[in-house]
Amino acid sequence: MARIVVIGAGLGGLPSAYELRHVLPREHQVVLISNQPTFTFVPSLPWIALGLKTLDQIQLDLATIVPQQGIELILDSVTAIDPQRRQITLKDQILAYDYAVIATGPELALDALPGLGPEGGYTQSICNPHHAVLAGEAWQKFLADPGPIVVGAAPGASCFGPAYEFAFLIHHVLKQKGLRAQVPITFITSEPYAGHLGIGGMADSRWLMRKFMASREIELMENTAIARFEPDAVHLADGRTIPAKFVMVLPPFRGPRFLREAPGLTDAKGFMPVLPTYRHPDFESIYSVGVITQLKAVEETPIPTGAPKVGLMTEEMALSVAHNIALELGVISGAQLKPTLQAICFADFGNTGALFLADPLLPDAEGHRHRALTFHGPWVSWMKLGFEQYFLLKMRMGWTIPWFERWGFRAIGLPLVERVQPESSLDLSPPIV
Ligand SMILES: Cc1cc2nc3c(=O)[nH]c(=O)nc-3n(C[C@H](O)[C@H](O)[C@H](O)COP(=O)(O)OP(=O)(O)OC[C@H]3O[C@@H](n4cnc5c(N)ncnc54)[C@H](O)[C@@H]3O)c2cc1C
Repeated sequence: MARIVVIGAGLGGLPSAYELRHVLPREHQVVLISNQPTFTFVPSLPWIALGLKTLDQIQLDLATIVPQQGIELILDSVTAIDPQRRQITLKDQILAYDYAVIATGPELALDALPGLGPEGGYTQSICNPHHAVLAGEAWQKFLADPGPIVVGAAPGASCFGPAYEFAFLIHHVLKQKGLRAQVPITFITSEPYAGHLGIGGMADSRWLMRKFMASREIELMENTAIARFEPDAVHLADGRTIPAKFVMVLPPFRGPRFLREAPGLTDAKGFMPVLPTYRHPDFESIYSVGVITQLKAVEETPIPTGAPKVGLMTEEMALSVAHNIALELGVISGAQLKPTLQAICFADFGNTGALFLADPLLPDAEGHRHRALTFHGPWVSWMKLGFEQYFLLKMRMGWTIPWFERWGFRAIGLPLVERVQPESSLDLSPPIV
């Protein structure tokens, strides 16, 4: 009997646990550890911050949905991992494992800039449920006494989509409330140009983002480094100061401390190196899924940026990892799988939205992808809402990507996973992060 421990019950961890349970016979134990009692559908957090939804509408109680799938749930925080001994330290116990799947998501590097973050700083974040609630409280205070707004991404950030979504949603909400004329909005990004998104841009993303900014009279500051924040101002590295009463700036991400402290486990920023199979190159018992995985950047940008890891890619990783562990345990036969890193993202801008399809997410050395498409229109906002409900239904039912969803993706040329070529499973080339 093997014990497979999944750390983190987010968009990567919960589907990983479900898929492992699906492919492994019951003699193998699947354990899910979460430091939160709930699963949160993170892509809906911008709506929480603007009071358009409440947290309970996008969260599921893990104790209700997980044990009934034959998965042991431990609600505790992992404080250390010893990959040599295959041991995980929790607050109250030490747990041995045969395989560990790391799906912790990121830690927010709020110490990257003075004044960054809602606790001990002057900026809001929408990166986790707690921060989204704090942002919601700050937003309600702001509405009572409005002033200038800054939205953007700090140097070193890698997740840019939610900043655009948040800025356009703010515009929409303020317009609905008749407050837009009183509120100058500035968008400050470390990307070399708007729509770069940490992936060298895609299709007409540059033109589209600029068009949306201009038509909404949002001042755009591209390739701009923020240096620090004060209660009523954002200070830029070039010495300029932008007055601001409400600030939402996405911070850089890094790996959680317990991973960074384990010798040889992560890169300097705490991200997990992975082989194409998503196994750690040096520790055979460790696989990783989601934002915590290391992803080669497309290019060095004048101001540092990273590449995002979006939800669909995270699910692809979960499918591959569960399959590859089942192969190693001799439960199934065949080839190892790897995620195709094909990505689809929906962004809601209030009265319209944008859909991005990147196949794959990162272009090749010449800047080419098989496909890169953007669509926009009000129907994208409805699709995002529908997708949220569908994803929550899947998590309630214990599904990862059911057969009809896989067929749907295949029908539009997105197989999600593919066989690992034998020689590439040993690709140990050092990545740039
Ligand atoms: C605001 C925002 C909007 C986004 N919008 C989109 C979108 O529209 N479409 C899209 O495709 N992607 C979107 N993304 C990206 C998407 O949310 C991520 O790809 C996805 O959440 C990654 O899943 P994950 O499992 O790596 O991390 P998470 O979903 O963050 O889950 C990690 C879990 O691990 C837990 N954890 C952390 N440390 C420990 C520990 N020590 N012990 C136990 N548990 C621990 C955390 O509490 C958390 O519950 C968005 C991201 C953000 C921040």
